[in-house]
Amino acid sequence: MKRFAAILLALVLLASSVPALAAGSGGGDKLVAITFDDGPGPYTEALLDALKTRGVQATFFVLGSRVERYGRLVERMYGEGHQIANHTYSHKALKGLSDAAVTEQITSTAQIISAAAGKELRCVVRPPYGSYNARVLELLGAPGIFWSIDPEDWKYRNADTVFDHIVSKVRDGDIILLHDIHPTSVDAAVKVVDKLLADGYTFVTVNELFRRKGVPMEDGVMYFSCRNATVRGALTAPAMTYEIGGDGCFITLASADDAPIYYTTDGSDPLYKGKLYSSPVKTYGDCTVRAVAAFELNGSRSPVMTQELAVSPAAPAITAVGTRVTITGEGRLFYTLDGKRPTINSNRYTGAFTAAPGTLIRAVAIGEGNMISAETRETLLGAGALVRDAEAGDWYYGAVEKTVTGKLMFLTDKQYFKPDVAMTRASVLETLYRMAGSPPVSGAAASALFADVSDNASYAGAVRWAYQNGICTGEGGRFHPSGYVTREELAAFLYRLARVGGQDVSAAADLRAFADADTVDAYAAAPLAFAVAKGLMNGEEGSELRPHAYATRAQVAVIVTRYMALYNK
Ligand code: ZN
Repeated sequence: MKRFAAILLALVLLASSVPALAAGSGGGDKLVAITFDDGPGPYTEALLDALKTRGVQATFFVLGSRVERYGRLVERMYGEGHQIANHTYSHKALKGLSDAAVTEQITSTAQIISAAAGKELRCVVRPPYGSYNARVLELLGAPGIFWSIDPEDWKYRNADTVFDHIVSKVRDGDIILLHDIHPTSVDAAVKVVDKLLADGYTFVTVNELFRRKGVPMEDGVMYFSCRNATVRGALTAPAMTYEIGGDGCFITLASADDAPIYYTTDGSDPLYKGKLYSSPVKTYGDCTVRAVAAFELNGSRSPVMTQELAVSPAAPAITAVGTRVTITGEGRLFYTLDGKRPTINSNRYTGAFTAAPGTLIRAVAIGEGNMISAETRETLLGAGALVRDAEAGDWYYGAVEKTVTGKLMFLTDKQYFKPDVAMTRASVLETLYRMAGSPPVSGAAASALFADVSDNASYAGAVRWAYQNGICTGEGGRFHPSGYVTREELAAFLYRLARVGGQDVSAAADLRAFADADTVDAYAAAPLAFAVAKGLMNGEEGSELRPHAYATRAQVAVIVTRYMALYNK
């Protein structure tokens, strides 16, 4: 029984400690705003690190002249949820300035802050030295923020003195004044944060303090603290619902706190890129909705909501028999043959049609509410073959057409040619064997020639043919069928193939024209010189042969096509 009670107690302690940890800035209902004037400066970064570790948000009354030097830190403050506020450009006592000079001190700094934060921010203002009167207040154009706890950190420059002053005076709703241009003040701030978090305080920005206390802030009014009872909790992330109508899907966003909502539909950050939500947002297909509830986008914001909207029909399928093209899919199908992106205004698909080889076919399905699918794009190669990853403008397109329709090379089940993929020895020799017309092979079985080739392998015939004609040799009784073929190896295969076919292979280009000529292996020197002289290969990336790079499928297709043209195959 005693043991059971102990477990229960442990559970209760665990449960009560979780919200405090999750809230980051303390789980208590006593609120306090810690503020830093006259920065940013050399100690601000360390302060930001300490606040980040503790999940605490503060308010920074920055000077325009300092932001010009430390703008990077202002961007960081904004990104980490701190409030950025205006402490004028050059820290002059505003009472002593003309109207125009007061306005200039405030507006220039507001612009500098927005530029540094990367976002148009509305900033509260704290007049330097607390110097203000009715005239200054009217010129602020924003709420004025004073303080209720002043440890005179600039005077004492002693972390313990500053700490003792603050913790002995602080009450719920206070605004603490510090200066992040003194290392002693930064040390004191970190100690104060740890102490007050332990005492059940929650640190909030100035804007958030007034929002949670239910006190509206008005332009031209000076506020000292906010000691009313707590009436509101933290901002919650917006909620999303959607409905598919006759034309479009309508996304509705709502804030439980009646806060303005900023959103994006392209997955980007709504704090930086968001549009202000006013009425349901129309979309025609799958998208990523991200939204944040925020007051002034400055120091008072919710977590970001991210939701994937999956409303589009599946992308259609395109098939062909000869040059007759069929499109299948859900809903209404639309397509283009002119390379343009298909829309609801494109050709409506009503039945199979004929297209010329080389035509790019782009198609979409449009479902309920005009939801549009992802696009399917295929190029008709002719002979009923369609390819997804080779189009008429590609340098290897003609070679893909020749080798695929000529059945020397093949597409995957999903109709990809995979131009950038390397080829194995087995598949390159199969291609060359087919090019040679797949002649009957007699003599020793493949397995008798090479320990690593099975007689049942699809490429066994090609390997026997290649061996018997001296096109490949193997190494130590092994063929290495799955080894990749380098560019110099490919040149050697073609050189030997031409020689076996009775062609004159004496042509030889001077390989010293290529920067990497000295990396060519001895066996491949004559084949590469022949391949370059005959225009089968012409070096890569300007002046390099790259003999040890793997030959890609696109390169093999192009080189084999050139070989066939050279010898009228
Ligand atoms: Zn100041």
